[in-house]
Amino acid sequence: MKNKTDVLIMGGGIAGVSTLYHLTKLGWTDVMLTEKLDLTSGSTWHAAGNLPHFSNSFNVMKMQQHSIALYARLEEETGHPVDHHPTGAVRLAHTEERMNEFERVVAMSKLAGLDLEMISVERLVELYPYLNPEGVLGGLWDPADGHIDPTSATNAMAKGAKDAGATIVRQNPVEKIVQKEDGRWEVTTPKGIIDAGIIVNAGGFRANELAKMVGHELPMCSMEHQFLVTDSIPELEGRDEMLPMLRDPDVSYYLRQEGKGFILGPYEPDGIPWATDGVPKEFGQELLAPDLDRIEDIMMTAMTQVELVAEGGIKTVVNGPITYSPDGHPLVGPVHGIDNYFVITGFNFGIAQGGGAGHFMAQWIVDGEPELDLFELDPRRFGDYADIKYTVAKGTEVYANEYQLGYANEYAMRPAVRGQKKTPIYESHKADNAVFGAYFGWERPSWFAPEGMEPVEQHSFRRGNWFDPVAAECKNVQENVGLLDLSPFTKFEVSGEGAYDYLSNIMPNHVPTEPGQIVLAHPLSPSGGVAWEVSITMLQDGRYYMMSPAALEIVVDDWLFSRLPKDGSVTLKNTTKAGGCLLITGPNARKVLSKVTDVSLSNADFPWFTGQEIDVAGVPTRALRMSFVGELGWELHHPVEYTQKLYDALHEAGAEFDIKNFGLRAMDSMRFEKGYPVWGPDMNTEFTALESGLSWFIKMDKDFEGKDILLKQKEAGFENDMVMIEVDSDMANANKTDAQNGFEPLYLDGEIVGQCSSGGYGNRIQKSLAFAFIKTKKIDKKAENAGLTVQILGKHYPAKIVPMCNYDPKNERIKADD
Ligand SMILES: Cc1cc2nc3c(=O)[nH]c(=O)nc-3n(C[C@H](O)[C@H](O)[C@H](O)COP(=O)(O)OP(=O)(O)OC[C@H]3O[C@@H](n4cnc5c(N)ncnc54)[C@H](O)[C@@H]3O)c2cc1C
Repeated sequence: MKNKTDVLIMGGGIAGVSTLYHLTKLGWTDVMLTEKLDLTSGSTWHAAGNLPHFSNSFNVMKMQQHSIALYARLEEETGHPVDHHPTGAVRLAHTEERMNEFERVVAMSKLAGLDLEMISVERLVELYPYLNPEGVLGGLWDPADGHIDPTSATNAMAKGAKDAGATIVRQNPVEKIVQKEDGRWEVTTPKGIIDAGIIVNAGGFRANELAKMVGHELPMCSMEHQFLVTDSIPELEGRDEMLPMLRDPDVSYYLRQEGKGFILGPYEPDGIPWATDGVPKEFGQELLAPDLDRIEDIMMTAMTQVELVAEGGIKTVVNGPITYSPDGHPLVGPVHGIDNYFVITGFNFGIAQGGGAGHFMAQWIVDGEPELDLFELDPRRFGDYADIKYTVAKGTEVYANEYQLGYANEYAMRPAVRGQKKTPIYESHKADNAVFGAYFGWERPSWFAPEGMEPVEQHSFRRGNWFDPVAAECKNVQENVGLLDLSPFTKFEVSGEGAYDYLSNIMPNHVPTEPGQIVLAHPLSPSGGVAWEVSITMLQDGRYYMMSPAALEIVVDDWLFSRLPKDGSVTLKNTTKAGGCLLITGPNARKVLSKVTDVSLSNADFPWFTGQEIDVAGVPTRALRMSFVGELGWELHHPVEYTQKLYDALHEAGAEFDIKNFGLRAMDSMRFEKGYPVWGPDMNTEFTALESGLSWFIKMDKDFEGKDILLKQKEAGFENDMVMIEVDSDMANANKTDAQNGFEPLYLDGEIVGQCSSGGYGNRIQKSLAFAFIKTKKIDKKAENAGLTVQILGKHYPAKIVPMCNYDPKNERIKADD
């Protein structure tokens, strides 16, 4: 057996083999895969092989698009049959909300160049003549959906990889993994020890056994999933063409033709987690015991919708384990704190996603990043709160919600295992009727329900029950003063004689040189995208205090620690959990704060965008004069044990000025008005920092990591440009909506000219706004562009490009001195 390789993939299911195949496509041929049993013997062999494009996530849709396009050409490319049936697929909608979801996904699919379309009930019946359309309002049609034989597809990719020089070893389980001092790996298998530069964990439902050998645990569990296969049905025997796939998300099943019968696969509400204490050692290429009682109700409904199914009788029931992460997306990417190690596992739609995921995994290994921003799949999107107990509870919840409507905030508000991380004022917020969402485990107030209203969000693709309360929160911030808990921020302290050089090398902006100075910076990904964002404050004694978005804690931690000089000249400390932060903002912020501090808060003594260490109500506070909502304000950073004391003191002092809490939804509304982008939708690795409109923060007169890439891009010109658009969203219409989900396409003269990244209603200026990336060659951002529209749900709304800042563009309110 070959015993040295650049990359060793551990696990030969569709995900591992796809990674191997795609590495060879990128020119890496000294690559190897070792499989415990035979290829596909985990979950892959018994999968139904359905291949949807449909997803509420644009990146997942594009990943599936890559898989389907690959599978369509794989047979011709490799000479290995794959049994691919692009039958097309219909989806049924029984409610207006489901129609809205379809309309959103159809609009988004156009950005990927896909042909998804809304169809009428008549067209549904035309495409699927055996459908009883009772209660159906309409549907969605994807002509390129279909199914494939998962084993054949995997074997075809294996052949392609081997033809290109890759090595595959079967019946060879990994037994031990040790990282050597030089960062390479020594992997023990029955057939010998393999010396590998990089290892990839593709162990499917056994991925945590491999993870344990490496020294970590993945947030991943397995759920039982069953589908039944019917006998042949005479009516289908008489047909030449295969029926399209049919999915009824409102009832929660998929149905497809298999031979001359059907496969019917329900997702039941009470799914069963499997092997939560670890997969039995002896479990091989096996199925689990069927349990039709669990899926009977859904089966019966399906059989009333397509009566033909009942004619078949049940031939077999396939029950097998599927892996689930806490949010239902796979785990694809690096792992916190471990070099030369990647994972690609946790798929619940591994056949539909495996082809694309292997492509992006290979890019991650070879290029240092995938072409899409895949934070949604990055294992580091979960923190240490996501232990196995949490994962099983969340995975079970995801299984039950497999066909849940894709509302923007729905997942964060699901009930399972809430309260993982709470700031000290959680109970105070609760008492104030906060509606919480869980983000990176933190309970964060989204909005506050007024007295008499239940603090529960009624989800909607339109302006839901939060709209009026959020408007009131914005009004209070604009007219009086508001308080927002920003404690979950990621926080770091950097110190030491090498601190300045260390930061300066990472940051495209100038690092502060005067105590109290604050700058914003955007470290670059290998291709010049925005890897993360940070505010850096120089403290009195030359130390630096840095804040980044909460969800990025682990990514930033990896980024900073991996670049730390080895000579001990820099000390780096992650202070996220030790520090709290309250934002006090609004025209009365100074008046309130002055009541609880002796320090002068005047513009002369405490200018905008500077920081000072001050005492506030007896709390040692790092006060930073900035506000992400565009009003006069201070972020008050402090030791977390004082959060409640500070909160109480500010509320007491602010009572006479009508101080009120506000939530993240109001903050969003106000940041749109100010033109403040956020990391994630508006700034990410997919668009370069220059395309994202960040030139102001990039200083070409200094050296920094990635500068050469930006210089080249400057010379070549950009493909995209970030703008602000105002949407004429028809306030008089009862069905009012905003570009609140992201990925709404912009059209000019029938052609797509851009896409929204995030948007919503600006309550202070009473306009619907959205950040959008426009294609520079297709639209002139300075021209009037008559006829520009944005497609939100099913409707084209007139839109126009407006200045980036539409509220207090001179920053007079932020800099107010009264
Ligand atoms: C009933 C059912 C129906 C499904 N239908 C669909 C569908 O229609 N469409 C869809 O997209 N998905 C479907 N899925 C999900 C799909 O099967 C999985 O998501 C996919 O197969 C996962 O692939 P994988 O490569 O990650 O894992 P696996 O296929 O489980 O591969 C992991 C491999 O790692 C190997 N391994 C484990 N430990 C070691 C070790 N120590 N050393 C070496 N090798 C090791 C295993 O032997 C295994 O071969 C279905 C699943 C089930 C159960």
